[in-house]
Amino acid sequence: MSRIAYVNGQYVPHGAGTVHIEDRGYQFSDGVYEVFAVHNGALVGEKGHMDRLGHSLKELRIDWPMQQAAMMVVVLEIVRRNYVHNGFVYLQITRGVARRDHPFPECSKSALVVTARKMAPLDKEALSKGVGVIFVPDLRWKRRDIKSISLLPNVLGKQQAREQGAFEAWQVDEDGYVTEGTSSNAWIVTKDGELTTRNTSQSILNGITRLAVIEAATEAGLTFSERPFMPEEALAAREAFITSSTSHVKAVTEINGKSVGNGHVGELTSRLLDLYVAYIEESGGPLKTDTWN
Ligand code: PMP
Repeated sequence: MSRIAYVNGQYVPHGAGTVHIEDRGYQFSDGVYEVFAVHNGALVGEKGHMDRLGHSLKELRIDWPMQQAAMMVVVLEIVRRNYVHNGFVYLQITRGVARRDHPFPECSKSALVVTARKMAPLDKEALSKGVGVIFVPDLRWKRRDIKSISLLPNVLGKQQAREQGAFEAWQVDEDGYVTEGTSSNAWIVTKDGELTTRNTSQSILNGITRLAVIEAATEAGLTFSERPFMPEEALAAREAFITSSTSHVKAVTEINGKSVGNGHVGELTSRLLDLYVAYIEESGGPLKTDTWN
């Protein structure tokens, strides 16, 4: 069955979707994006994604291409037309088409592309198998709270991970602290049992999955700490995992080729996966969605 994409006002066969060669996204990475998970037919964290999208657009002074409510209609229509029961929606907005010149064009209309893809349903057993991560230097710009389509350092980091047999790369900033994965947030349970993930600031992207896990953990009475941690602390951790809209809560069982804890999914990680799934099924996603930097 052929996939359908939304491209600047039209629903078109995925393979036939095209954008202009002078789209500023293509020439300058002048745009932002969001990835929404679809879990059992429902969007996860739709309000969070829209709020974060609003933050990204505002910080880059890109106009909404249409009203938010209308955009949600497009997102849901793309889910429907692609028969996505489990998978994700990709939404990208750029500053639009203009003669190539660095300053903002005087009159360009924001461009909107929305696509969707099916994925296997969330599988707790597969997520608990565990993956490996490696450390790479964080080569990105200083506004990582903005979900910019400029992803070259993320691409290079992920490629290095794959070439070294790992699933994800944890990026390390100039001060020696882990920021986040190339497409996920990084979590550890320290050797003293403290559930830890980096605090939000302009240094990381505040993940919608991260927020949902925090809310689910809080509701369950678990304590956690939001602070930077170093690779050494991660290497000594009892447990580790990553969160993202497409990886959910995925156990990390190897860091730089060394086993985390006993090399199996951690007890708290397993519990958080259960809590996360129950939480999104009940609430639809994180409820507190106003902290983007
Ligand atoms: N950090 C980065 C750099 C990412 O690209 C992503 C995935 N978009 C995340 C964190 C996780 O965000 P979310 O939970 O909203 O998918």
